[in-house]
Amino acid sequence: MRWIFFVCFVMGVVFKMIMIYFNQQQRQCALSDEVKDIYDSTTYQKWQAYENETDKIAIIQDLVDIGIAIFYFFTPIFYQVSMLFSSSILISSLGMLLVFNGFEEIVEVIFDYYETFVIEEKYGMNTTTKKTFIKDFIISLLLDFGLFGLLFVFVHYVYRWFSYYGFIVIFVILGLIVGWIQKHPIFLMRLFNQFTPLPEGHLKDTIVALLNKHGLKLKGIYVMDASKRTKRANAFCSGQGKEKEICIDDNMLEMYSEEEIVAVFAHEQGHALLKHAERQRFLNVLMGLILFLCFIFIFVHPSLYATFHIKQLNYYMVVAVLGWVLGPLMIVLDMMINHYSRLYEYQADAFAAKEGYGEALIDVLKKLTKDGLSNIQPHPIVVKMCYSHPTLSQRILAIKKYQETHQIK
Ligand SMILES: [Zn+2]
Repeated sequence: MRWIFFVCFVMGVVFKMIMIYFNQQQRQCALSDEVKDIYDSTTYQKWQAYENETDKIAIIQDLVDIGIAIFYFFTPIFYQVSMLFSSSILISSLGMLLVFNGFEEIVEVIFDYYETFVIEEKYGMNTTTKKTFIKDFIISLLLDFGLFGLLFVFVHYVYRWFSYYGFIVIFVILGLIVGWIQKHPIFLMRLFNQFTPLPEGHLKDTIVALLNKHGLKLKGIYVMDASKRTKRANAFCSGQGKEKEICIDDNMLEMYSEEEIVAVFAHEQGHALLKHAERQRFLNVLMGLILFLCFIFIFVHPSLYATFHIKQLNYYMVVAVLGWVLGPLMIVLDMMINHYSRLYEYQADAFAAKEGYGEALIDVLKKLTKDGLSNIQPHPIVVKMCYSHPTLSQRILAIKKYQETHQIK
């Protein structure tokens, strides 16, 4: 059995490596007409060097992950750690969570540190201070341990009180919590970032006029302090129903013209009006259901991880086995989710073009790509499998085609 788990785990890592290889091959090809004016020869070389360095570190991280997996799967480490704690199911599970998740978080933070303070710094993208970095790490650690820890305690007592009927209670309560978080995604983001309302002024008046034109009600328009971590800029539409919010990075307000910001806002408004978050709900529910059914199956079959000499129920092992086995399935599900996400991006771009912001949107997308040293030419297979957004040249072509078809200048 441990070989099956190992193969599932390695499949996920090998998949990531193949995607890196495809992108490396694609970088050798000539750039398409729509994007070849973005980087001058110096920036083009800088982009190539940046991509090569990030790829290298990603491959090293993948190899380290395989090394850790070999250590986990082919030594008695799971059994030994489980024996360090009491024979109580809950205490033993929480102890394993603390040791293994803590270890994995430390390995990951070493790579994050290198990426942030060596690579991003070298290419002028980083603005994170060491203090912010440490604070982020501690919050992520507490969040990781806190959420899984609470899940273990919750599942433990509900199962004890209601036996198999407890799974219905667990499904309903978890569904409500996850649904609430999806409706209010910036709730958790507030742990890391500050969100302040967009200041009054001409920009806000133009945006509000655009909202009123389509009768769209938002819960808020916020500015996020992204500048304390990076020089890159972004904007996003979050929440569902009446809880929709549009957030713009402070970097964007500083570095881009008003027309460009309104073009980005028009794109985000397109997402909100076309109810893209609500449409994603079906896939999210499907994913949640698959995850939960697999969870129950592993939960009631502790024999699945008896290969690690852990013979009684252990919540940590249930979650770990779930992660290994579902890895390959998640690649397929992600592909489906990304397919719809790219479709929604085209629709939001078309909405901005319909409002007369097509050219401004093309300009701002080019600038965002250049300023963020983004991959201007990913491999088509990587785009199909992993990209939530179409490539820049695909978006430019689609916007121009929309403008031509609808005779918009
Ligand atoms: Zn979008």
